[in-house]
Amino acid sequence: MCSPSLSDPESVERERVSPESIFMITPSEVIEYLFCPRFIYFMNCLDIPQHEELRYKVLKGREMHKLRAKHNVAYLRKKLGCAGKEIDVYLASPRLHVRGVVDEVLHLADGTAAPLDYKFAECRWVPFKTHKMQSVLYAMLIRECYGKKVEKGYVCYLRGGSKVEEIVYREADFAEAESIISEIVDIIERGYYPGRARSRNRCADCCYRNICV
Ligand code: SF4
Repeated sequence: MCSPSLSDPESVERERVSPESIFMITPSEVIEYLFCPRFIYFMNCLDIPQHEELRYKVLKGREMHKLRAKHNVAYLRKKLGCAGKEIDVYLASPRLHVRGVVDEVLHLADGTAAPLDYKFAECRWVPFKTHKMQSVLYAMLIRECYGKKVEKGYVCYLRGGSKVEEIVYREADFAEAESIISEIVDIIERGYYPGRARSRNRCADCCYRNICV
Protein backbone atom coordinates (compact mmCIF):
# COMPACT_ATOMS: atom_id res chain seq x y z
CA MET A 1 0.00 0.00 0.00
CA CYS A 2 1.34 3.41 -0.94
CA SER A 3 0.56 6.94 0.17
CA PRO A 4 1.42 9.92 -2.03
CA SER A 5 0.49 13.29 -0.54
CA LEU A 6 1.62 16.91 -0.48
CA SER A 7 3.36 17.83 2.73
CA ASP A 8 5.82 20.14 4.45
CA PRO A 9 9.28 18.52 4.10
CA GLU A 10 10.52 19.74 7.46
CA SER A 11 7.58 18.36 9.38
CA VAL A 12 7.84 15.06 7.53
CA GLU A 13 11.56 14.88 8.32
CA ARG A 14 10.63 15.20 11.99
CA GLU A 15 7.86 12.63 11.74
CA ARG A 16 8.49 9.37 13.56
CA VAL A 17 6.80 6.19 12.47
CA SER A 18 4.83 4.70 15.35
CA PRO A 19 5.99 1.33 16.69
CA GLU A 20 2.71 -0.20 15.56
CA SER A 21 3.29 0.69 11.92
CA ILE A 22 5.68 -1.00 9.53
CA PHE A 23 9.14 0.40 9.85
CA MET A 24 10.15 2.73 7.01
CA ILE A 25 13.46 4.48 6.50
CA THR A 26 14.16 7.76 4.72
CA PRO A 27 16.64 8.45 1.89
CA SER A 28 18.58 10.59 4.41
CA GLU A 29 19.06 7.51 6.60
CA VAL A 30 20.33 5.57 3.59
CA ILE A 31 22.89 8.32 2.96
CA GLU A 32 23.93 8.19 6.61
CA TYR A 33 24.34 4.42 6.31
CA LEU A 34 26.57 4.89 3.26
CA PHE A 35 28.71 7.31 5.25
CA CYS A 36 28.94 4.86 8.14
CA PRO A 37 26.67 1.88 8.96
CA ARG A 38 27.05 2.60 12.68
CA PHE A 39 25.08 5.84 12.33
CA ILE A 40 22.00 3.67 11.85
CA TYR A 41 22.77 1.74 15.04
CA PHE A 42 23.41 4.84 17.17
CA MET A 43 20.38 6.72 15.83
CA ASN A 44 17.81 3.95 15.58
CA CYS A 45 18.85 1.29 18.06
CA LEU A 46 20.28 3.50 20.84
CA ASP A 47 18.14 6.54 19.91
CA ILE A 48 21.08 8.97 20.05
CA PRO A 49 20.36 11.72 17.49
CA GLN A 50 22.87 13.77 15.55
CA HIS A 51 21.90 17.19 16.89
CA GLU A 52 24.36 19.14 14.79
CA GLU A 53 23.42 17.27 11.66
CA LEU A 54 19.70 17.87 12.15
CA ARG A 55 20.24 21.58 12.75
CA TYR A 56 22.28 21.76 9.58
CA LYS A 57 19.56 19.98 7.61
CA VAL A 58 16.86 22.41 8.78
CA LEU A 59 18.97 25.43 7.87
CA LYS A 60 19.91 23.91 4.54
CA GLY A 61 16.26 23.09 3.83
CA ARG A 62 15.18 26.70 4.46
CA GLU A 63 17.98 28.02 2.28
CA MET A 64 17.00 25.60 -0.49
CA HIS A 65 13.40 26.72 -0.46
CA LYS A 66 14.44 30.35 -0.73
CA LEU A 67 16.69 29.53 -3.66
CA ARG A 68 14.02 27.48 -5.41
CA ALA A 69 11.61 30.40 -5.12
CA LYS A 70 14.24 32.74 -6.51
CA HIS A 71 15.32 30.69 -9.50
CA ASN A 72 12.86 30.28 -12.32
CA VAL A 73 13.45 26.72 -13.49
CA ALA A 74 10.23 26.44 -15.50
CA TYR A 75 12.20 26.47 -18.72
CA LEU A 76 14.17 23.48 -17.50
CA ARG A 77 11.02 21.45 -16.98
CA LYS A 78 9.92 22.36 -20.50
CA LYS A 79 13.27 21.22 -21.84
CA LEU A 80 12.84 17.87 -20.05
CA GLY A 81 9.53 17.19 -21.83
CA CYS A 82 7.54 17.62 -18.65
CA ALA A 83 3.73 17.46 -19.12
CA GLY A 84 2.88 17.97 -15.46
CA LYS A 85 4.46 18.13 -12.04
CA GLU A 86 3.70 17.83 -8.35
CA ILE A 87 5.87 19.47 -5.73
CA ASP A 88 6.91 18.31 -2.26
CA VAL A 89 5.21 14.95 -2.55
CA TYR A 90 5.30 12.65 0.46
CA LEU A 91 5.54 9.03 -0.65
CA ALA A 92 5.62 5.97 1.56
CA SER A 93 5.87 2.29 0.79
CA PRO A 94 5.70 -0.23 3.63
CA ARG A 95 6.59 -2.92 1.08
CA LEU A 96 9.86 -1.17 0.22
CA HIS A 97 10.38 0.01 3.84
CA VAL A 98 11.00 3.52 2.45
CA ARG A 99 9.31 6.89 2.91
CA GLY A 100 10.32 10.41 1.93
CA VAL A 101 9.46 13.70 0.29
CA VAL A 102 10.27 14.06 -3.40
CA ASP A 103 10.98 17.70 -4.32
CA GLU A 104 9.13 17.27 -7.61
CA VAL A 105 7.44 14.35 -9.36
CA LEU A 106 7.58 15.07 -13.08
CA HIS A 107 5.03 13.45 -15.37
CA LEU A 108 6.78 13.24 -18.74
CA ALA A 109 5.19 13.45 -22.16
CA ASP A 110 6.12 9.82 -22.96
CA GLY A 111 3.94 8.54 -20.09
CA THR A 112 6.81 7.86 -17.70
CA ALA A 113 7.51 9.76 -14.49
CA ALA A 114 10.75 11.11 -13.01
CA PRO A 115 11.92 12.56 -9.72
CA LEU A 116 13.51 16.02 -9.71
CA ASP A 117 15.65 16.72 -6.68
CA TYR A 118 17.21 20.07 -5.75
CA LYS A 119 20.66 20.27 -4.25
CA PHE A 120 22.36 23.24 -2.68
CA ALA A 121 25.63 22.48 -4.45
CA GLU A 122 27.44 23.08 -7.68
CA CYS A 123 27.04 20.71 -10.58
CA ARG A 124 29.65 18.03 -11.25
CA TRP A 125 29.93 16.08 -14.43
CA VAL A 126 29.03 12.85 -12.67
CA PRO A 127 26.36 13.27 -9.97
CA PHE A 128 27.58 12.54 -6.47
CA LYS A 129 27.07 8.87 -5.58
CA THR A 130 24.86 9.88 -2.69
CA HIS A 131 22.68 12.08 -4.88
CA LYS A 132 22.28 9.23 -7.33
CA MET A 133 21.27 6.84 -4.54
CA GLN A 134 18.67 9.30 -3.26
CA SER A 135 17.31 9.67 -6.77
CA VAL A 136 17.08 5.88 -7.18
CA LEU A 137 15.11 5.63 -3.92
CA TYR A 138 12.69 8.33 -5.06
CA ALA A 139 12.32 6.53 -8.39
CA MET A 140 11.43 3.30 -6.56
CA LEU A 141 8.80 5.14 -4.50
CA ILE A 142 7.29 6.75 -7.60
CA ARG A 143 7.17 3.41 -9.46
CA GLU A 144 5.47 1.81 -6.49
CA CYS A 145 3.02 4.61 -5.68
CA TYR A 146 2.03 5.78 -9.17
CA GLY A 147 2.41 2.50 -11.06
CA LYS A 148 4.35 4.33 -13.77
CA LYS A 149 7.64 3.50 -15.42
CA VAL A 150 10.54 5.55 -14.05
CA GLU A 151 13.53 5.32 -16.36
CA LYS A 152 15.44 8.46 -15.44
CA GLY A 153 15.63 11.19 -12.83
CA TYR A 154 17.07 14.67 -12.50
CA VAL A 155 19.14 16.53 -9.95
CA CYS A 156 19.10 20.34 -10.13
CA TYR A 157 22.18 21.96 -8.64
CA LEU A 158 21.13 25.41 -7.47
CA ARG A 159 24.57 26.89 -6.98
CA GLY A 160 26.29 27.93 -10.16
CA GLY A 161 23.20 28.57 -12.29
CA SER A 162 20.61 25.80 -11.69
CA LYS A 163 22.27 23.12 -13.80
CA VAL A 164 20.37 19.86 -14.22
CA GLU A 165 22.01 16.42 -14.34
CA GLU A 166 20.13 13.48 -15.82
CA ILE A 167 20.47 10.06 -14.21
CA VAL A 168 19.48 7.05 -16.31
CA TYR A 169 18.58 4.18 -13.99
CA ARG A 170 19.73 0.62 -14.52
CA GLU A 171 18.13 -2.43 -12.94
CA ALA A 172 21.42 -2.88 -11.05
CA ASP A 173 20.81 0.51 -9.37
CA PHE A 174 17.45 -0.66 -8.02
CA ALA A 175 18.95 -3.98 -6.91
CA GLU A 176 21.76 -2.17 -5.07
CA ALA A 177 19.28 0.14 -3.33
CA GLU A 178 17.10 -2.81 -2.27
CA SER A 179 20.13 -4.60 -0.88
CA ILE A 180 21.16 -1.52 1.16
CA ILE A 181 17.63 -1.06 2.49
CA SER A 182 17.56 -4.68 3.53
CA GLU A 183 20.88 -4.26 5.42
CA ILE A 184 19.56 -1.18 7.24
CA VAL A 185 16.29 -2.85 8.20
CA ASP A 186 18.31 -5.81 9.45
CA ILE A 187 20.45 -3.60 11.73
CA ILE A 188 17.35 -1.94 13.17
CA GLU A 189 15.23 -5.05 13.58
CA ARG A 190 17.97 -7.28 14.95
CA GLY A 191 19.79 -4.47 16.76
CA TYR A 192 23.24 -5.71 15.81
CA TYR A 193 26.35 -3.53 15.88
CA PRO A 194 27.56 -3.15 12.28
CA GLY A 195 31.07 -2.64 10.92
CA ARG A 196 32.64 0.80 10.98
CA ALA A 197 33.04 3.39 8.21
CA ARG A 198 35.24 2.28 5.32
CA SER A 199 37.59 5.22 5.80
CA ARG A 200 38.97 6.18 9.22
CA ASN A 201 39.11 9.78 7.95
CA ARG A 202 35.37 9.93 8.50
CA CYS A 203 35.81 9.33 12.23
CA ALA A 204 37.77 12.52 12.92
CA ASP A 205 34.75 14.85 12.97
CA CYS A 206 32.12 12.24 13.84
CA CYS A 207 29.70 13.15 16.63
CA TYR A 208 29.73 9.51 17.81
CA ARG A 209 33.51 9.12 18.03
CA ASN A 210 33.51 9.15 21.85
CA ILE A 211 31.13 6.22 22.16
CA CYS A 212 32.16 4.27 19.06
CA VAL A 213 34.41 1.31 19.80
S1 SF4 B 1 33.53 7.18 14.79
FE1 SF4 B 1 33.86 6.38 12.70
S2 SF4 B 1 33.14 4.23 12.76
FE2 SF4 B 1 32.30 5.29 14.59
S3 SF4 B 1 30.29 6.01 13.99
FE3 SF4 B 1 31.70 7.69 13.59
S4 SF4 B 1 32.34 7.44 11.43
FE4 SF4 B 1 31.39 5.50 12.09
